[in-house]
Amino acid sequence: MREFDLIGRLLRPLARQAKESLGLEDDAAVLAVAPDRELVATLDMMAAGRHYLDGDDPALVARKLVRVNLSDLAAMGATARGILLGYAARGDLDEDAARRFVEGLGRDLEHFSLALLGGDTISQARGEVFSLTALGEVPKGEALRRCGARAGDLLYLSGTLGDAPLGLAALKGELARREAWIERFYLPSPRLSLGQRVRPIAHAAIDVSDGLVADAGHMARTSGVRLVIDRARLPLSADTCRLLAEQPEWWTRVLTGGDDYELLLAVPPEGRDDLMRAAQAARTPLAWIGRVEAGEGVTVRDEAGRALSFAHPGFVH
Ligand SMILES: [Mg+2]
Repeated sequence: MREFDLIGRLLRPLARQAKESLGLEDDAAVLAVAPDRELVATLDMMAAGRHYLDGDDPALVARKLVRVNLSDLAAMGATARGILLGYAARGDLDEDAARRFVEGLGRDLEHFSLALLGGDTISQARGEVFSLTALGEVPKGEALRRCGARAGDLLYLSGTLGDAPLGLAALKGELARREAWIERFYLPSPRLSLGQRVRPIAHAAIDVSDGLVADAGHMARTSGVRLVIDRARLPLSADTCRLLAEQPEWWTRVLTGGDDYELLLAVPPEGRDDLMRAAQAARTPLAWIGRVEAGEGVTVRDEAGRALSFAHPGFVH
């Protein structure tokens, strides 16, 4: 059996439920969009050895690929509709790995009620690469952007910070293993419900994929403002809290490591109550971590109010 046939055959059942995919029998998927809505599209790629470790369970790689893309839709306040998959396998297709990948993909498509709308599979001599395009929609003109933060806004962060980069450090043997960290590294929780609910409340949003300092920097730059974050207010898991109490040198990794996929929001003070209600309805913890001021760049202050400096604010693409 040719490898393309195999992957195609494995993927086809995942597309069958979605009539928009036309059963993967046609040249492209066809999506209806209501006249008062807009399509939101995003693409993320993952390469062996760069975005995941050799030997990682392909099912987890597939699920992370789905989740990082959905996190981008969440940051735009969008509702997810479906995905397109690019699967570039290494020369000799590992059948088991392909099956595991499709298994993980199917599991998360079901979990997030997403349709596989189409895609392509190739084989090439070098390492494997996966790409995923996620499509979503928002009411016309209402997509959340990075660029809307204004001086006086309050900054909020969902979930907890640092678990994923510490999970990666643990996987690399730099830290003792904590299963909660490792799970967060492989399986981030895209904050779709929160993103949709805060769409009418927040001035700006971004998901923390490259590291808090770097992503806050993107918001500051596109909005033309300065973001001031109080380290003491950052929401941390119990494991992370314990580590930082014993080994404060890990703060840098927590603040600049990526992969947490939490939402950073800039919200006007008068939107605070609505924001808390939205977070409650989305069952997503949300912490006030700082404020927006006139100026530029990002300042993270320690407990004594001193500005911290970072050699590298985050992941560089
Ligand atoms: Mg993003």
